[in-house]
Amino acid sequence: MIYIILLLFILALIFFRQSSVQRQEAGLPGGRIIYSDTRGWGKVEKPLFYTALELTGKPDYLIQQNGKIIPVEVKSGRAPNAPYDSHIYQLAAYCLLVEKTYKTRPPYGIIHYENRDFAVDYTRELEASLLDLLADMKRDQYKKDVPRSHEQAGRCARCGFRNVCDQSLA
Ligand code: SF4
Repeated sequence: MIYIILLLFILALIFFRQSSVQRQEAGLPGGRIIYSDTRGWGKVEKPLFYTALELTGKPDYLIQQNGKIIPVEVKSGRAPNAPYDSHIYQLAAYCLLVEKTYKTRPPYGIIHYENRDFAVDYTRELEASLLDLLADMKRDQYKKDVPRSHEQAGRCARCGFRNVCDQSLA
């Protein structure tokens, strides 16, 4: 079965797998605040695919800028102090899909919150971390038990899997 790794799934599995400690170890870029003119943003009509990784996803917008294509992910709600790990990985997946689809590597992507935009550099380290995450997800997707990776009851309280998860802390 191809194209089974949907980007929304990344969001869900982030909650299984990622902790802030791992984030630091992975060297995820924190994102820098930028101003971007939304008039230049082009809506994306169809999902992008990368068969080799069974990866698909649809950025909210693509910006063409100096020969580069920059993906934009729009999030509802006000911006946190720094983008969440899950948002960074989702954006990184879009950067990978853009590179594979258009044969040009985005230097960064943009996470657009209601009140602030962050540019997140698509570094080789972020790409490697994303590939590790995708490999882990693929390895674990048919496992019955994937251990909880955190001790945060609040995270479980907000989790959509809480009712079916036997490791919930909430
Ligand atoms: S309920 Fe808690 S442990 Fe279970 S999947 Fe959600 S965040 Fe992870």
